[in-house]
Amino acid sequence: MYIQVAIDIPLFTTFTYAVPPAWQAAVQPGQLVQVPFRNRSKTGLVMSIQETHDPALKPASIKNLIDIVDLEPLLSTTGLEFLNFVADYYFAPIGEVVRLAVPSAVRVEGMKHYRLRALPEEESGPMQELPALLGEAVEALRGQGQVAIRTIKEAVRGLTYVQLSELETLGLVDVFYEEEKAKVRARTEKYYKIARPLAIGERLGATQEAIFQLLKEHKTVTLTTLRASMKSPHASLRGMEERGLITSWSEEVYRDPFADAPATAPKLFEPTPAQAQALEKIAEARRSNRFEGFVLHGVTGSGKTEVYVRAIRETLEAGRTALVLLPEIALTPQFVGVFRGHFGERIAVLHSGLSQAEKFDQWRRIKRNEVEIVIGARSAIFAPLDRLGIIVVDEEHDASFKQEEGPRYHARDMALVRGNLERAQVVLGSATPSLESFHKSQLPAGEPGRLTYLPMPDRVAARPLPRVSIVDMRGGYRAPNAPKLPPSLISEQLTAALGKTFERNQQAIIFLNRRGFSPCVLCESCGHVFQCPNCDVSLTYHRRQEALRCHHCDYALRMPEYCPECAHTGLGRKGTGTEKLEGYLQELFGQTRIARLDRDTSSGKNLQKIIAQFREHEIDLLVGTQMVTKGHDFPGVTTVGVVGAEMSLNFPDFRAAERTFQLLTQVAGRAGRGELPGVVFIQTLMPDHYSLMAAQRHDYAMFAAHELRMRKELHYPPFTYMIALKFEAVSEGATIQAARDYAAAAQRQIRHNPKFAEGITMLGPAMAPMARINNRARWQLTLKSASRPLLRQFVRLFLSDAGHFSAGNSAHKNVRIVVDVDPLNML
Ligand code: ADP
Ligand code: ZN
Repeated sequence: MYIQVAIDIPLFTTFTYAVPPAWQAAVQPGQLVQVPFRNRSKTGLVMSIQETHDPALKPASIKNLIDIVDLEPLLSTTGLEFLNFVADYYFAPIGEVVRLAVPSAVRVEGMKHYRLRALPEEESGPMQELPALLGEAVEALRGQGQVAIRTIKEAVRGLTYVQLSELETLGLVDVFYEEEKAKVRARTEKYYKIARPLAIGERLGATQEAIFQLLKEHKTVTLTTLRASMKSPHASLRGMEERGLITSWSEEVYRDPFADAPATAPKLFEPTPAQAQALEKIAEARRSNRFEGFVLHGVTGSGKTEVYVRAIRETLEAGRTALVLLPEIALTPQFVGVFRGHFGERIAVLHSGLSQAEKFDQWRRIKRNEVEIVIGARSAIFAPLDRLGIIVVDEEHDASFKQEEGPRYHARDMALVRGNLERAQVVLGSATPSLESFHKSQLPAGEPGRLTYLPMPDRVAARPLPRVSIVDMRGGYRAPNAPKLPPSLISEQLTAALGKTFERNQQAIIFLNRRGFSPCVLCESCGHVFQCPNCDVSLTYHRRQEALRCHHCDYALRMPEYCPECAHTGLGRKGTGTEKLEGYLQELFGQTRIARLDRDTSSGKNLQKIIAQFREHEIDLLVGTQMVTKGHDFPGVTTVGVVGAEMSLNFPDFRAAERTFQLLTQVAGRAGRGELPGVVFIQTLMPDHYSLMAAQRHDYAMFAAHELRMRKELHYPPFTYMIALKFEAVSEGATIQAARDYAAAAQRQIRHNPKFAEGITMLGPAMAPMARINNRARWQLTLKSASRPLLRQFVRLFLSDAGHFSAGNSAHKNVRIVVDVDPLNML
């Protein structure tokens, strides 16, 4: 018997190992195993089991499996199938994909700890009958608290993980997963139960009596409960335990970092007709137990969340589980709150703030079917849910669903793939669907890849969409007869609207897509611009830190006093970031409570705090970057302003107009979500651009029609498929050489095969628009085709020709070569 094992190293193949007869009954796909690899022992995931091995392998070269780290498989066979698909589709090393799916899989072995259970006397019987080695292990654990299982294995020679796991099976130990280094304290809960009845005439104190009654009533009671129900039960508990009246033991409890996320009391709505119709379409697919993908195109405030909640409830009722993907979970605690309110403890929340051990805790809860709903950011697409019945991708257009490092997968696209494998319904929700998804929803019936279009064109309760004005800021000085004044950041219209908003005690949001104080600092004498020495960008001035910072690497520098070129002391700060805008607004509206929401002010707890304060109306005005545009539901907001709406249009990226339209529509959608109608002001230097005009009219259809026509003419997605190759190295020469070698390999394939000559377009190799980041030169090669299978076939062939998949390929050792399938980031 042989197994294919994916090892956590950046190689494209799995490795074959032989299974010794003793373990053939125990080994299963999805298990974590220990195998010898290059004279070391490594942890890997069993991808498959075969009777025979690849005849190309010499039998003598096949090594034996060393041990099975955990008998419980980490993934189901469908889960493994999904990983294989992801690795194949993104041309990614299987080991790296496994690492995405199994949180720190390789470290699980190191994280696993045992603690001997303090079991009530009568239950510790099995201990006597343990095999000798396990008996030794128990002795090694006794009186030790929690012990790393590696340590036990080292203490008891010859003991294997497989044998050790017997202790788990017998219920003799508690299992903990802990970081190896940072010693996090184990979260355990102490339990109590009655050990013997009261003897005749036996007296109890008042507290003891209360405890005894509680235990009698509930059989087992936790210390937490006891502490909540009476004052200082400790002394009484100790006394009763000493008398043998009660026993106690400890059990692991799962950590729950979202425990304090407010659960919003569920509201019960009569679904609107549009909601009902969408739900019915989803239900049809569920009833016939088939995969179907949907585009839920609902304007901001149309009640998409309610559709998710109902569809998920129906899915759970049918005995299946649900997965919800969100762009940035930290930004939307409310969303989690709504789900908590509806589904209580049946939810696991996966977010980037979790430590490795916490992630693994959540992951095990999921794996053990203790939860029915998983909510998380993109990596949650790999959550090991069984019987998955529905996947919701909220704000499906959001770029954060694409991973930009390691395997560059797109969680929304992979949601459709996983949904298909699991026969689940997949709901892609957005007020501004990506043109890729929208295009798929408009394909003729029966076309492969077609998604079902579910429109929700109106806000609930007949609330109007906000009135949007475009404010032309070209050459506009606020006071024409005082030209020395700097151009005003906020137009007269917006100033007036904000004034009225605050007078009426309502709230406002101002969006500016640039953080810091000024994005550019230059010498007013010689024109020297302060640039990052590592990146191809100018440094941003941050006033609070009095520093110049690079937004692409960690480079920072105290704000200089003079120009390094000409020693002139007049240094100009050009342009406006959120920090400057915040100060400006505070001067304009002295009494107003203003907060800033961007990456400089808001991380972790602080972010939650600002969002909560704004929600509670302890803040009147929120100024910020993209963070303010995300799906917040703040009913008190009536006015929204956008400053510099053209900024996102100026990127050399064919999706610039789409991103701008999405941003503007999303931010505008924050206005007027409550009882009061909203107004929006878009300040811009490009007032005639179609993406702005479409956003002003809330006219997605107009935007999509215009944009799709252009994409078709210019052969861009969704009418073509793209795969980009990205080359990065410290040495520009090496970068160019690698790019040229790959391009030459591509050319060879094109010359070789008329099919490729006909159907494949190659762009580049060319310098990336951001020519240098983090002191690495960047070049790109882009391949396009109208046929996805042809493109994939072509790329696979020429990558092998270039030696890309072979481990020994050292021609471009120092160049990072990334294959980016369906690239989103064109810079
Ligand atoms: P979206 O996500 O589409 O922007 P939400 O799901 O946040 O919109 O819903 C907007 C508001 O409408 C929320 O306050 C929600 O509670 C409310 N709502 C949703 N569905 C209904 C309904 N059927 N009837 C009344 N109010 C609803
Ligand atoms: Zn930099």
